[in-house]
Amino acid sequence: MANKMGQISIVGGGVVGLTLLTRLARLLPSHTITLLDGSPKSAPLLSNSDTATQPTIRTYALNKASVETLSKCGLSIEESLRKGEYKSMQVWDSKTPSYLKFDVSDVGADTHSSLGVIVEDDYICGNLEKIASNLSNAKIVKGAQVKKVTSDSVSYSTPVDKTSSSSTSSSSTPNSLNSLDSDLIVGADGFNSTVRTSLNFPLTKISYGRTALISTVKADSDETVGTAWQRFFPGGPLALLPLWGGYYSIVWSTTNDHAEALAEASPSDFLSTVNECIGGGPTPIKFSDGSFLPPPLKSAKNLLDDLVGTMVNGISLINMNEKFGNSKRFEAPPMITELSSPRFRLPLNLQHVDTYHSSSVVLVGDAAHSVHPMAGQGLNLGIADVECLVKCIESSVTTGGAVDDEYALERYSNERRKEVLKMMGGIHALHHVFKEENDLVLTGRALGMSLINMSGTAKRSLARAAMGEP
Ligand SMILES: Cc1cc2nc3c(=O)[nH]c(=O)nc-3n(C[C@H](O)[C@H](O)[C@H](O)COP(=O)(O)OP(=O)(O)OC[C@H]3O[C@@H](n4cnc5c(N)ncnc54)[C@H](O)[C@@H]3O)c2cc1C
Repeated sequence: MANKMGQISIVGGGVVGLTLLTRLARLLPSHTITLLDGSPKSAPLLSNSDTATQPTIRTYALNKASVETLSKCGLSIEESLRKGEYKSMQVWDSKTPSYLKFDVSDVGADTHSSLGVIVEDDYICGNLEKIASNLSNAKIVKGAQVKKVTSDSVSYSTPVDKTSSSSTSSSSTPNSLNSLDSDLIVGADGFNSTVRTSLNFPLTKISYGRTALISTVKADSDETVGTAWQRFFPGGPLALLPLWGGYYSIVWSTTNDHAEALAEASPSDFLSTVNECIGGGPTPIKFSDGSFLPPPLKSAKNLLDDLVGTMVNGISLINMNEKFGNSKRFEAPPMITELSSPRFRLPLNLQHVDTYHSSSVVLVGDAAHSVHPMAGQGLNLGIADVECLVKCIESSVTTGGAVDDEYALERYSNERRKEVLKMMGGIHALHHVFKEENDLVLTGRALGMSLINMSGTAKRSLARAAMGEP
């Protein structure tokens, strides 16, 4: 049995691991919290007033709840100029005339509020690492590749052992294999989690057969429009997310072959394709027989045809041009003129573990779940995991319990499992609804989106969900 020493180990130094490190270090001053990260280099430290340095490629749409958690860590995204803010969101279909637009006014928020912010991975990680370096009980070991985890110990290698003189229970061998005994071990080591596989957490995994292509682009104006645009194609959505200084992030989820073609196209061909695809407005439905009416209704009398035709194509088009019910005008995205970064491809999978803890080992973030990026929720879910885990540990220790109290960790697992599955179900359904091209789905999709666009209540719910509010 390992000798426990008030030690908590976090494996993985992405945003989720670093957020947990700073939250736990403040909550548990008598514990040492050690974060082991395989990446040898720290993230660059980007100042919150630096808008001159071009945005880095990896960015996230963060909701209000995530921004609040980061603020509890000491990182004020609200005060930073190095972010994009979106006050409205516009989603539309490449195969029907329907679109959906909502903004902060739909939740009764003032015009200074936003639905969410777009922030760089480097900005968050660099600043959280700096905050952690000022916390005496927080320790980050870079270049620490975790090899194996048991219920109370972590084995990891370092290229050069930097931990042998530390005050933790680390011991090193000549080949730099270290072991760290821990009261609690948290796997924040992402999609291919070693912690998860070491402990044999049961996992459900589905490949979407899709790849996300990401890049940074610049528009023809230095002023960034505060709208998040997303147009759905059968292969997946193309999102244009506002940064600052005329820069936008592109996240294009599509078939693997198409992503490869987009990545290999010349910069000018790539930009033309992006402009053509994101610039295309709502399009009338074309049913499988080439008509504008569903085949089963084609033989019906003219009155019914006209009625359905109006419902399917008409409502959406009226909606687009006039204020109808609670609808808002369709807004054309900006013209993109510059490819400002390399293009990266990331494979997309749905993953979920059956339980988020096993004895004193807990999973958070992508180690526990990963979802399609279409709703920009993966990291938001991971940050919400941190918030929930901290709450459960806090209620255990304030009532005299341990950091690895079985009841507290079980409560964490149950609460997050329920929330994540709810979000996962919604995202998975959306993926299928927009993937299908059959007449019935096209008709339902067009009507559904148009009706939601006219309904204040439905849009309020969507806007609240985008903000991460219950
Ligand atoms: C294209 C795309 C766009 C996305 N956009 C959004 C968005 O807009 N909003 C949003 O909320 N989410 C978004 N997501 C999801 C988001 O990227 C992930 O949910 C998030 O990055 C997960 O963070 P994490 O810290 O859990 O894992 P990661 O960011 O994967 O970090 C894992 C860390 O663990 C370390 N590690 C791995 N293995 C080991 C090991 N054996 N030993 C030591 N260290 C190890 C790695 O070095 C890394 O630092 C997007 C995802 C994709 C693919």
